[in-house]
Amino acid sequence: MSRRSVRTVLPLVAVAALAGTAFFGVGQATAEHAVPRSDKEIPNLDQVKTKIEAYYGDIETGDGEHYASPRGNYAKQTRGIAAKARKDIERDLHGHGHHRDGGGHGKSRPAIVLDVDDTTLLTYNFERRIGYNFSPEAQDDYLRTEDMAPVFGMRKFVNWAHDKGVTVFLVTGRAEYQRDWSVRNLKKAGYDMPVDKEHFFLKDEKNPPAYLECGSDCTTVEYKSGTRAHIEDQGYDILANFGDQYSDLAGGHAAREVKLPNPMYYLP
Ligand SMILES: [Mg+2]
Repeated sequence: MSRRSVRTVLPLVAVAALAGTAFFGVGQATAEHAVPRSDKEIPNLDQVKTKIEAYYGDIETGDGEHYASPRGNYAKQTRGIAAKARKDIERDLHGHGHHRDGGGHGKSRPAIVLDVDDTTLLTYNFERRIGYNFSPEAQDDYLRTEDMAPVFGMRKFVNWAHDKGVTVFLVTGRAEYQRDWSVRNLKKAGYDMPVDKEHFFLKDEKNPPAYLECGSDCTTVEYKSGTRAHIEDQGYDILANFGDQYSDLAGGHAAREVKLPNPMYYLP
């Protein structure tokens, strides 16, 4: 199974209820009713796609590929999020209980947890190429042969955290069989931290780890929060958990949640 074999489209009202108002930005299309009573409650699909292109600062190359601009508003937003995260982690590290040697506190090895797609690696070129119409086959074709760019600001932030002695863990919904492609991409994208099996968790539905009580039937929230609990059990204090989906962030086991923007798809 791949990251997502089915695109579940929830009514926006349900999305809003799941996400909570604290996560929802101004201007987000929020329908009043699960079943729209008027077309005015539904954003126009073509206009949404045009807006997405404008937001990412779409650049079309000579071969017809589309990429996000480093000067686009998406890039500005993710750089801002990364810069704030750095300040927060810096404050944590200068506070109590977080020192490179553990500071004498048994359970205080600082760590951060990050999702991969649209948190450390940017899927815009892939999503634009497939018309936002995800399939596991299209994803495999892309991951096998292409490398995604890092999310703007995140490579610098993650490499900084690693240099400061913060252990970096990646927890992705990508499947275990996609590990080698993913490791290659992360290295090519310039991520300097170790991305071995101890630090990089992919979803293994055939042979789920013993610490996941839900086994092969985990929801994303159960898989991701259960993996964070496992990381904590190894003596880490997760200072922040980064993701572009609310399902990356729900379920606790982190001192703070950091939401990256992603208007392209929704994963429950
Ligand atoms: Mg993601």
